[in-house]
Amino acid sequence: MLPDDKTSVRVAVRVRPLSVRERAEFQKPCLAVSEDESQIIIGTERAFTFDYTFDSNSVQEDVFCETTKDLIDGCFQGLNATILAYGQTGSGKTYTMGTGFDVSIPVENFGIVPRAVDYMFEVMQSRHQEHLDLGRAPPVFDILVQFIELYQDDLVDLLDRATRGSRSKRVKPPRLGEDKNGNVVLHNVSKKPVGSREDILNWLKQGALARTTGSTNMNAQSSRSHAIFTIEIKQAVQQYDEHNCPVEFLTTMAKFHFVDLAGSERLKRTNATGDRQKEGISINCGLLALGNVISKLGDTSIKATHIPYRESKLTRLLQDSLGGNSRTLMIACVSPAEADFVETLNTLRYANRARNIQNKVVFNQD
Ligand code: ADP
Repeated sequence: MLPDDKTSVRVAVRVRPLSVRERAEFQKPCLAVSEDESQIIIGTERAFTFDYTFDSNSVQEDVFCETTKDLIDGCFQGLNATILAYGQTGSGKTYTMGTGFDVSIPVENFGIVPRAVDYMFEVMQSRHQEHLDLGRAPPVFDILVQFIELYQDDLVDLLDRATRGSRSKRVKPPRLGEDKNGNVVLHNVSKKPVGSREDILNWLKQGALARTTGSTNMNAQSSRSHAIFTIEIKQAVQQYDEHNCPVEFLTTMAKFHFVDLAGSERLKRTNATGDRQKEGISINCGLLALGNVISKLGDTSIKATHIPYRESKLTRLLQDSLGGNSRTLMIACVSPAEADFVETLNTLRYANRARNIQNKVVFNQD
């Protein structure tokens, strides 16, 4: 259930466990989590309240059930949903989203995306059966997937790249445009029809392998681009009149966007120069604009009339996934290690601003 059904923006914070290296270095956690109060207390003086908090012992199934299941139910009622994973490199975004593709990963460690896909197929199957049990025609589902990367200012169609291979002749890259009602439209992007859980996860994997990655000295595998994996669910349900005779079909469509944001770490920390520095600047601008948009959307205290989608390509790209009939969940991932104190505090501040709610407690321990 949504904690507040009128709220279209929710923010969760998840703390990863200390790593083996951090434990070997005897690093202490720099924060405490109160799951009951949905609070994170960092250092000795700051407490932040969120919609959900998950401590370092939290399990993948709970994170999925508490934050995502109802968003999928909403998709079957025609409501769009977006999950954004935010945080510094190494804070647990990939683990939480479940986009890592480590073949040896045990089932209980599967993240949000594979669980979401399983649940979607469960819902479709039970809908199918319900209709059959009533002696009615089962609904017809069409599922399509799309995978886009935003690297600096360039959009890449990852599924097209995965199909053609990076050395083949470059086709027209995706381009953002507008329809006559002012809605953002993405041109030149491929959508792949899928019929099973395996199809979806296979496209996700192929696309992820085609991503542009670079290394910073924080994490060799760190992703320096934003990636948006979208599952589009179309359903056509046969309607019946009062004599139980079939009449027209009712069709609904909803999109579920899973957004892996680039690492939020500061440029100084990564000692970035040249191309890496350029990437960092573009990442920071996009994340800043995204924070502004989400904060305005979640602002229930004033009537926010102007939502600044146009401030960056990232927010323009996500325009139809944020606000309107979309429900948004930001999962901010943080490291508990003392050495990451400043990055963790920055992430909590960002997430707190995005949620736009008053913090319940202000600690003052001089
Ligand atoms: P990011 O995608 O933010 O760069 P990762 O998801 O790759 O970070 O996480 C970094 C490391 O921490 C990985 O080895 C991952 O398996 C581990 N990790 C992250 N979150 C958790 C968690 N909640 N429980 C156990 N291990 C985790």
